[in-house]
This record gives sequence, C-alpha cells and structure tokens, in this order.
Amino acid sequence: MTVSLNTGLVGGGTVGGGPGTSGPGSSGLPAIGDWTSFETLRALQEERIAPMVRHARNSPFYEKRLEPGQSLATVGLTQKRDLRDSYPFGMLGVPRERLATYHESSGSTGNPTPAYFTEAEWTDLADRFIRKSVPIGPEDTLLVRIPYGLVLAGHMAHWAAMRSGATVVPGDCRSLAVPYSRVVRLLRDLDVTLTWSTPSESLIWVAAARAAGYDGSFPALRALYVAGEPTSSARRRRIEEILSAPVIEEYGCTEVGPLASDCPQGRMHFWADRVLPEIYNPATGDIAAEGTGQLVITPLYREAMPLLRYNLEDVVDLQYEDCPCGWKLPTVQVLGRLGQGYTVGGRRLGQIQVEEHVYRLPADHGVLFWRARAEQDRLVVQIEVPGETGGEASASLAASIEAELGVRCAVSAVPEGTLVPSRLLAQRLDAMKPRKLFGPDEDWEHAILRG
Ligand SMILES: [Zn+2]
Repeated sequence: MTVSLNTGLVGGGTVGGGPGTSGPGSSGLPAIGDWTSFETLRALQEERIAPMVRHARNSPFYEKRLEPGQSLATVGLTQKRDLRDSYPFGMLGVPRERLATYHESSGSTGNPTPAYFTEAEWTDLADRFIRKSVPIGPEDTLLVRIPYGLVLAGHMAHWAAMRSGATVVPGDCRSLAVPYSRVVRLLRDLDVTLTWSTPSESLIWVAAARAAGYDGSFPALRALYVAGEPTSSARRRRIEEILSAPVIEEYGCTEVGPLASDCPQGRMHFWADRVLPEIYNPATGDIAAEGTGQLVITPLYREAMPLLRYNLEDVVDLQYEDCPCGWKLPTVQVLGRLGQGYTVGGRRLGQIQVEEHVYRLPADHGVLFWRARAEQDRLVVQIEVPGETGGEASASLAASIEAELGVRCAVSAVPEGTLVPSRLLAQRLDAMKPRKLFGPDEDWEHAILRG
C-alpha cells in the first residue's frame, strides 16, 4: 500500500514507496539511514520549510497571521494559548472531510488544546512510533497502558504495533474495567513482551504483583516503552533492575506525535528529519538551532494541523552532535518546564532531583514509592519501606539530599500501602453494564451509573 500526502505538500505529487523507505505500507517519508550527515539532514529540513509555511496559510489561524511568501525566519512563535483560542478547528489546514481523528490534550482550564490528523499522517505517526532501539515485531505482545480517551498516545501505539504485526492488548489506564489486579494477570498470562505506559505505572505493577502473591517479575518482558513524565536516571535504572528489561524513553506531544526516542546507546534523539527543532530563549527572544532553552517545533510534514514555531514550553538541551549509534539525529535532553519546582531554604528544587536520590537508595530497602513536601526551610520526604530497614533508609536518604542538594531534609519511612493503598492494587473489576431489572436481594443503588 502506498500512502500519499496528496495535499501538494511535496512538489504537488505523492510521496512513498521509493528506496530507503521504512518498509511496505510506510509513509515513504525519510527513514533513518536515508541521510548520512548533519549537512544532508539540514538539506532535508530546508527543502520542507518553504512548502510548510505556504501550506500553513490554508488554516484560518495562519491565514490571518502570515503574509504571502513570508519566510519561517520572520514567523513569530505559536503559543499553546493560540491553539486553545483556535478551538476546535481554527488550525485546520485541510478540508474537514480529510480528517481521520480528533484529539485533545489534557488541560485544566479554559478551552482544550485540539489536535487532528489525516489518514496519511497516521501512517507517519506509526512510522515514528516504531523507531526504537528495541523494535516491535510480529512475535511481540504489546500492553497499552495509557489512557485512550481523546489522548493520541494510546491509539498511536495501538495502531503502530498492529501495523508491525504485533498483538495489541488495549489495557487503557484509569479505566474501571482494567484495575491493577487485571493488569498483573494480563502481563503474566499473556507473556506480554512490551509495554507502553508512564514510568510511574511500571512500579505500580510491581507492587500489584507482590500484593497478588507473585515475586513482582514479568519474565517475558523485553522492554518498557515509557513517556508522559520526566524520569531520573536512578529511577530508570531501578525499573530496569526490578523488571530485568530496558526502559526506552519516548518524548512527544498530542499535537504532533512522537518527537524523540532513545537510541541503542541510551541517548535520546530528536526526529529532526520530520520536525524542525529550534531553541527559544525567553529572556532575550533569540531563536537558535541548538542549545538550552524552550523547545520550539515546526513539523515538516504536518497537513491537518500545520504548526510553525510552536512553543512546547518544555526546557530542553538539544545538540547536533555525533553519537556512536550512527543515527545522525540531534540529541535532546528534556529538562522540564520553566518555573516548575519549589524553593526550599533559598534553593530551587525539582521533582527529578529529589527522585534521583530516592532511587539511588540500595534496592534492598525495597522503596518503590515516595512523596515530598517543600517547606520554607526544609524538605519533608516520606518513603514506603516494606521491611525493617526504614530507619536506615531514611537516614541515608536525608544525608544524601542534604549533602548534594544543599537543603535541610527530614525523611520518614511509612509502611507499605500508605502512599499506594493496597486495596487499590488488589481491587477487582468494578465496571458494571447498565441494568434495570434486579432480583429481590440484589443491590440496585447504582443501576445505571456508578457513583
Ligand atoms: Zn545515539
């Protein structure tokens, strides 16, 4: 099957099927190995920029904002609030009937942030998702444990894995129908080889397996694909150690899809052949090709929702530097959001920094979960310690945080089940189909909707 991006984005013709594409049914867009140096990568990007700026004017938002013939260098940032203000279809770059899916990213206030994709873009999403150091194949069983509702990430993994010939287990997340006891059963009974979840989720599976009387291991697991929250290297190593499988970290957003993933050397590379990254310095207003600052992206093949210099507001360090993996893609380190974290005793602390110390504790203490509160002059930390070593673990964590982060710190050990309640781990199926007729002794309190 050859899929075309038939909007005239690429020289008015169709793309696909040529040499160097990533396999039958692929999008035909660039694949790793198609370019051999950063210079040829830049040429690939350069070729796409002017057509994308032209195409953007098909959307109501950019039609108002751009002059005909304007170059990207003179285009201002597109902010998240621009997308919210354009809800629902102000960013639409193609006729509505060409859309395949509509999504929203979770927002807490005001209009949601919409995102839409054509069928051809779905092929590209799958192509980018399967770019992995541990690839997905027909022998694999992938458990998707990401919310499906309106979010792109669950559906994308589902679709990409099916196209790769794998078996998909749509486990969802935060669904009443799939409590943790059921996840543990699926992971074990189906010999799940790959999972797609947040990193936090994987540690809850371990606790749920232990609560169910297993040792917490899932022997068939080959790799854990994780995304959705930043993770410290110590937590990552701990997950790998407990589950005996590599953690492959992904980075992306609902508006554009996958943006980066780990290479076989364990470094995260940005998909700069598909999306042009730039680095914005909010203090000076400067935009650079690489460096540290806010990540600003221009997707090079986005047709349903063209975006020019879209500010993701994530602070990253991006460098065009060689890596032994040979992918010839810039490396990216996601450092978090500007202004995130709290001040303790005059020092700014982020979650990742504290987390790094928690998971550097020796594995023997069995610490899976923690929480902390930033007070004015000290950090108060609680760790769940299942065994008898709570005192020792607490003293050791307090010492390491005080020594390396330079803040006063009080750590206490709390019993297992305090931070992640055991009843939630053991909970059985709670979803009930709507029903109106009941027997004489049955509970009819929640006949139609569960409260
Ligand atoms: Zn690499």
